[in-house]
Amino acid sequence: MSKKGLIVITGASSGIGEAAAKAFSQAGHPLLLLARRLDRLEALKLPNTICEKVDVTNLDEIKSAVAKAEKKFGPVDCLVNNAGVMLLGVADTQDPKEWEQMVQVNIMGVLNGIHVVLPGMKERRHGTIIDISSVAGRKTYPNHAVYCGTKFAVHAFTEQIREEASSYDVRFITIAPGAVETELLSHTTSKKIVDDYQEWKTTMGQPLQSEDVANSILFAYQQPQRVCIREIVLCATRQD
Ligand code: NDP
Repeated sequence: MSKKGLIVITGASSGIGEAAAKAFSQAGHPLLLLARRLDRLEALKLPNTICEKVDVTNLDEIKSAVAKAEKKFGPVDCLVNNAGVMLLGVADTQDPKEWEQMVQVNIMGVLNGIHVVLPGMKERRHGTIIDISSVAGRKTYPNHAVYCGTKFAVHAFTEQIREEASSYDVRFITIAPGAVETELLSHTTSKKIVDDYQEWKTTMGQPLQSEDVANSILFAYQQPQRVCIREIVLCATRQD
């Protein structure tokens, strides 16, 4: 059996990132898992895995974690840029510090990851970068203004960088899930907005589970290298 490539997953300490880590591990890959909550990464106890406390807004932290993992497992085969925050709010009342955090994590965090792994992938003429956006990167929702802004940005720059990297045989994939049962909503500070969101989710019957998104990530990655699934948008069947 051929040796499986190194997969780097940001934000693997909960939700979609955690489910993706389990799925790639099950498929036999060595992993580098990044997040700020190191205890949650280590608690997964996945084999052939390096866990590193990394804030994705810090380019140097990503760089040194990737260098450490590449030394042990060989070059990065795939980066899943998954870390993100959703701080819902209304434009005239929301604390701009929350906008700043979303821009830093959801945009700069993703770009930082790309910046670290893309040069090696271009040199090797092989690799896959999967950016986790959202259906909120395709259409708008109430109280989502800046979150939508960051996710629309992920679609835009991922597609542009895909064009830049395609002649080097590097694949760029955007995965845009609808509402998923995770910790994501728990950081929104307005109780009213959280309650309204929870109410809205009940209209869907069953929202997506993290494993549904992990399956899409793995499916896109496992296509032959000559096939690039540029974008997947997946939602609960009843989501608007
Ligand atoms: P969770 O809140 O469960 O997971 C978010 C992850 O991001 C955590 O592991 C968290 O780790 C990590 N993270 C946040 N900030 C940073 C940072 N500065 N540095 C490193 N890691 C960070 O939510 P989800 O699993 O739902 O979210 C994963 C991705 O999916 C996000 O990009 C989100 O926008 C997207 N998404 C989610 C949807 C949903 O409804 N849940 C729908 C569509 C897209 P830690 O706190 O330990 O650093």
